[in-house]
Amino acid sequence: MSNMDNYNYFNDPRVINSLISGNAGYGLTHKDGTMHLYIDDCFFEDDERIVLKGSDGKFYEMCLYKFLENPSDDEIIGVLADDQSLEAFHGRFANPEDLKNKHLLEGVLFGDAFLCSQDTRVPTSNHNCYQCDGKGTMVNPSIDAGGLSYDDFCDDPDFEEAYFSGRFDVTCSACNGTGKSLSIGWDAFPYEYVYDSGSKEKNPKYGLDVKSVLVSIWRDKIDSYHQDMYDYARECAWERAMGC
Ligand SMILES: [Zn+2]
Repeated sequence: MSNMDNYNYFNDPRVINSLISGNAGYGLTHKDGTMHLYIDDCFFEDDERIVLKGSDGKFYEMCLYKFLENPSDDEIIGVLADDQSLEAFHGRFANPEDLKNKHLLEGVLFGDAFLCSQDTRVPTSNHNCYQCDGKGTMVNPSIDAGGLSYDDFCDDPDFEEAYFSGRFDVTCSACNGTGKSLSIGWDAFPYEYVYDSGSKEKNPKYGLDVKSVLVSIWRDKIDSYHQDMYDYARECAWERAMGC
């Protein structure tokens, strides 16, 4: 039997996943037979973005501060900002009223030109959990964090038998045992970039409608939110690995 190694244990992605606490900033919920995405008020805090329509007819978005430093004549479609920052910006727009009551996307009302506690219908995709590949279980990381070697099995055939028969299995920490992972079907919308044989190219379909621009803002936000959650859990794990 391998010894539990504190260091390896707390650096194991399965353990780190088990330390991630819920998705507080946003969520997916069933409503009227379809899946809806809802977002907390605080989700867009500290990030002010403006959505515009260029002279080429394409929609795009940029940081509101950058726009204010170097304003263009492009048509303002809407602003994603919290109440307070919008208040500060109002005086600087020629027509602040233009920013109000923009209905940009079905189900998403940009009331007062900022997004708050709104929800919208989103496509979702259900696939096998990446960590357990649909089984819903994983080997207890205290058994094999840091990896097992041929010798671990060779020296102890009973351990080998138990290991492969699933006797050390516990509930998967990524899917909580469902084996499935429900995620937003971002692929239904053109993303700003396409990755073609390793190179990153601008997607010509991006910006043809305002939806693709809004979706990409959300997608980036949600991706970085997940990254933050994981990084925080990894930090907590690191402290425990060090015995703090
Ligand atoms: Zn799983």
